[in-house]
Amino acid sequence: MKIDSIQNGVVLDHITAGMALRVYKDLGLDKFDCSIAVLQNVKSNKMGKKDILKIDKSYDINLDVLGYIDPNITVSIIRDGQTVEKKKLALPQKLINIKKCKNPRCITSVETDIPHIFKLTDEENRVYRCIYCEADK
Ligand code: ZN
Repeated sequence: MKIDSIQNGVVLDHITAGMALRVYKDLGLDKFDCSIAVLQNVKSNKMGKKDILKIDKSYDINLDVLGYIDPNITVSIIRDGQTVEKKKLALPQKLINIKKCKNPRCITSVETDIPHIFKLTDEENRVYRCIYCEADK
């Protein structure tokens, strides 16, 4: 399968097969009016199968959101048809307004104007805890 390569934009590669639509949604790409190619179940030597997203627009991608979904995704910045930069992802130490605390007794469910902040407490198991109530969901 061949898709026209983009001239200026962002390519997200090595997305775990089946996760492309979640990445699409979590990055808010549905609000974009540029062309976006979602490739699913692409053959990969390294992964067997993978998903790829190609976004035909230059923009600052939220690397914390991506790192939280999957730190193994590779991000390539394309300008004039060439890859000019590859960004490395890591599990973010802090999530700010990326996920909401679901504890009904948490202060964030009462005070709606304070930010939702989660801290990485267990890197291996990817556990994040709310900094206000310590809930891990
Ligand atoms: Zn909380």
